[in-house]
Amino acid sequence: MTDAKTEPHSWRAGRFMVIVGHPDDADFGPAGTAAAWIDAGSEGWLVCCTSGDAGGEDPNADPTELARAREDEQRRAARVVGYKGVTFLHQPDGNLVNDLPLREMLVREIRAFRPDAVFCGDPEVVIHRGGGINHTDHRAAAMAAVDAVYPAARNPMAFPYLSTRAGLPAHRVRRLYLMWTNEPDTWIDVTATAERKIEALRCHASQIHDAEAVFARVRGRMTEQGAALGVGAAEAYRLVVLDQDPVESADVEEGLAAEQPKAR
Ligand SMILES: [Zn+2]
Repeated sequence: MTDAKTEPHSWRAGRFMVIVGHPDDADFGPAGTAAAWIDAGSEGWLVCCTSGDAGGEDPNADPTELARAREDEQRRAARVVGYKGVTFLHQPDGNLVNDLPLREMLVREIRAFRPDAVFCGDPEVVIHRGGGINHTDHRAAAMAAVDAVYPAARNPMAFPYLSTRAGLPAHRVRRLYLMWTNEPDTWIDVTATAERKIEALRCHASQIHDAEAVFARVRGRMTEQGAALGVGAAEAYRLVVLDQDPVESADVEEGLAAEQPKAR
């Protein structure tokens, strides 16, 4: 299909956070969008719930060594994309659970960085369209991210000691961009940064064995998504708008000058 079926998505967060299960998920995921937004002036922060300590083939391997190597790989990739920083929550790879401790850790990250938008997986995907099971850690990280964004991060009475003792008052994330979704409705043009995504993926040498085949598949996917916009490369998301931002509201009100502004 080459018919342009939608408009490029032009909204951009001043600050955004990417929350994923493993090192490399963000680079297989929204790295093109992250790089494009950072190039345009946004600030991004990456949170990895695990350090990927089960991401190998050898049962005798030292998981602590693997975690260290994968954190190094992810930090290098994050520098390629341009994130301001990376947080590793050091949860167990393969055993990530969306429980209250994980939710609190994510709320701390969100309240500390105060992003306008969060990128995470689509927690409703168990089986990917076209086949393949969505890894249990991907599902847990996605659900935990959604639950941390709403209502916990914005509710002053959720983990109230964060406000009263840790200097982390409630924060409203206005948008969620769900990656690896079966229901995409938003396509972001990443033509200018598609190769940065490949360069970021190249950092994950411990995970990517037939690199050129993997990169060809990733490039192919971006090209396919780009066809939705009639551009060279795109990344697709399911967008959840929790709060319209003030600029958009003002635009709407200007365009509807004769009408009453919406009640706040
Ligand atoms: Zn993963």
